[in-house]
Order: sequence, then C-alpha cells, then structure tokens
Amino acid sequence: MTIELRDVRREYLVGGQLVRALDGVDLVLEGGGFVSIVGPSGAGKSTLLHLLGALDSPDSGEILFQGKEIGSLNDEAQSRFRRKQVGFVFQFFNLLPTMSAWENVAIPKLLDGVRMSKVKSDAIALLERVELGNRAEHRPAELSGGQMQRVAVARALMMDPPLILADEPTGNLDSRTGAAVLELLADIAHDEGRDRMVVMVTHDVNAAESTDRTITLRDGRVQSDAKVEVLPTGTPG
Ligand code: ADP
Repeated sequence: MTIELRDVRREYLVGGQLVRALDGVDLVLEGGGFVSIVGPSGAGKSTLLHLLGALDSPDSGEILFQGKEIGSLNDEAQSRFRRKQVGFVFQFFNLLPTMSAWENVAIPKLLDGVRMSKVKSDAIALLERVELGNRAEHRPAELSGGQMQRVAVARALMMDPPLILADEPTGNLDSRTGAAVLELLADIAHDEGRDRMVVMVTHDVNAAESTDRTITLRDGRVQSDAKVEVLPTGTPG
C-alpha cells in the first residue's frame, strides 16, 4: 500500500489574494505505518488530509494511490473511492445521535446498500475490537468522549479500508482517554497482514510522538519528515 504525492499544489483566492495552501508537496506514504501531520495553523494540514481522502482535488501535481491517480477523479469516482478505500475519524466524532453504537458503526455498509440485519454481527465484532462490545445498544449521548471516538474508529473500519484518516482525533479528549485512542489507531496501523495506513492531523505534540513518522508542514511545504526507527520486538534498548 503506497500513496505518492508529486509536486502537489492547492491554491485559494481569498479577497483577491492568492493563498498557497499546499505549495509543491512531494511525499511517499507506506502502508503499515501510523503517520502524523503537524505544523502551525494555516500550514496546510487539513488541505493535505482532504486531498488524501479525495474530499478535494489538487490544482496541479499528482496523487497516486496504489499507482492510480486520484487527484483528477470526477465527483462520482471520488465518492466511490472514499467509500471503499478510506475511513474517516473526526475531532467531534460525527456520530448520529439517534442511532445506537452498532448502528453508527454499520452506517458505511448501509450506505453501500447492505441490509441492516446483514451487518449487525460485523458491526458488533468491530465494537468488540475497540473494546465496546458491551455498549452496542447505547446511543452516543450515553457514552463518554473516549468511547464515542472508539465507536468512530470502529465505523472507519467497517469497509476494511486500507487508509484511515484522522483529523485531530484526540482534540476533544482528555490526555488519558486520548492516549487510549492513539494506542488504538497505532494498533490498527500495525495490524499484521493488513498493510493499512493511518494518517493523523494533530496539534498535539504528545499525539505526534506516538506515531511512526511525523511530517511537519509550514507554509504549504514539507518542512521536516521524521521517521522513528521501529525496533523489532525483543531488541534490547
Ligand atoms: P491547517 O489545517 O494547517 O490549519 P489549512 O489546510 O486549513 O491549514 O489551510 C491552509 C491555508 O489555506 C490557510 O491559509 C487557509 O486559510 C487556506 N484555506 C484552506 N481552505 C480554504 C478554503 N476553502 N477557502 C479559502 N482558503 C482556504
């Protein structure tokens, strides 16, 4: 699983002024990793995340997802791409308040035309995966923030996408609850045999420290790109 960005640019015209949200970004992202994108406000983090999720298109440059260009897809192809290939996790969870936890998890499959009765067991299995098997019938309002975010992570996994995009997933959680969510995201990125990738935008230095690679943006460019060397388990030190 590889995503390659080649000289990606995205500009906005604001009040007659050109804002370069992304100003020539080259990156190669590999599966099996948990990547954080950091940088000051306005650096282009959200723009980059939106492009990776085909929520937006670049003005120029290429975005190759498994070698296939996704930057220039039409609306319909973009939304098909999102449905199959991407799971989204948001700062404010974006759960539907009138639906139970398992129904929220099932939503991507329901939108894909699968019947409710057919997806229940899969949704509950995913809730078990995020340690909420005993909360399947609870509504979001009956869950804590950390639990709501774990439901959102389970929902992101419903279509078993290779790419999970998380926008400030710990931004609305206290540090302990946030740490549990980060651990879960790392787990998902490192799922053996899955070749999945988790990309997270964050303001939180501690959150970034829990990832395998931190890409720092500044003024729409990659300012630094730091990979943590992953030691094989059992290696001393
Ligand atoms: P970050 O997520 O790092 O805070 P953004 O990607 O949201 O940065 O924004 C990068 C720059 O692009 C900012 O200057 C922002 O004002 C501008 N920008 C982003 N989205 C839009 C938009 N839809 N319309 C106009 N300007 C935008």
